[in-house]
Amino acid sequence: MRLKGKTALVTGSTSGIGLGIAKALASEGANLIINGFGDAAAIEAERAALEGLSGGKASYDDADLTKVDAITAMFERADADMGGVDILVNNAGTQFVSPIEDFPVEKWDLILALNLTSAFHTIRHAVPGMRRKGWGRIIGTASAHSLVASPFKSAYVAAKHGLVGMTKAVALEVADAGITANCISPGYVWTPLVEGQIPDTMKARGMTREQVINDVLLAGQPTKQFVTVEQVAALASFLTRDEAANITGANLSVDGGWTAA
Ligand code: NAD
Repeated sequence: MRLKGKTALVTGSTSGIGLGIAKALASEGANLIINGFGDAAAIEAERAALEGLSGGKASYDDADLTKVDAITAMFERADADMGGVDILVNNAGTQFVSPIEDFPVEKWDLILALNLTSAFHTIRHAVPGMRRKGWGRIIGTASAHSLVASPFKSAYVAAKHGLVGMTKAVALEVADAGITANCISPGYVWTPLVEGQIPDTMKARGMTREQVINDVLLAGQPTKQFVTVEQVAALASFLTRDEAANITGANLSVDGGWTAA
């Protein structure tokens, strides 16, 4: 188990891609801190399953990442209970679909706070411990929308472009300290986040559910397949390997060819 003794914090890992990444890292032996919202019994079952996979520790932290004090407190707990964070995965994110002139200001603020600003706070808390240990991995779940835009997603596109830019800047700052910082940019992955935006897109574009899936979601994905959580998680796991020590400042697409077009 090559990650035995290392601790990974995966934000937004009570469902979807984050949970998949947590499982992939646990199966390599990492201790896990999972985070996010959801049903308490379901979260406890996932936490226990992660301990089963790793043979190590897994804890759950309910920090609301839109609140800076909650992020600080999460890192204090990580230091006290897990000896700090060796692998930081900035994965939590949310979406809202609306024409710019109607875009609710509170949704803009939420998306920027969760999808971008929270990663600034987690990185600034994680880097000192990684520097001390001379090893660290920072991975952001960005999106194809970090490279190209779609209409009605102004806040999401802005936040994801920002996440990649910030991660690249950090990669340069920590390049000589044994720490890498990269983003993974999936196309459409079938998760609750994607399912949740179908009704809004139906409304915004006057389409049926099938039209949204085939003509919007998969229209730009040449493979005509949703990306799987496991495919994204496998790349995140690879980035923690010694073989990936010289992959830094990169934004790696897993998008079925979407951004090649
Ligand atoms: P998801 O909705 O399944 O998971 C989101 C996670 O974030 C959940 O664990 C949720 O509880 C958590 N979360 C929400 N608000 C939070 C808050 N305030 N504080 C802490 N945690 C919070 O979504 P997903 O599809 O797995 O998306 C994960 C990441 O992948 C997001 O950043 C998303 O933008 C990105 N992404 C998703 C897709 C896709 O097609 N699903 C494609 C590209 C990028």
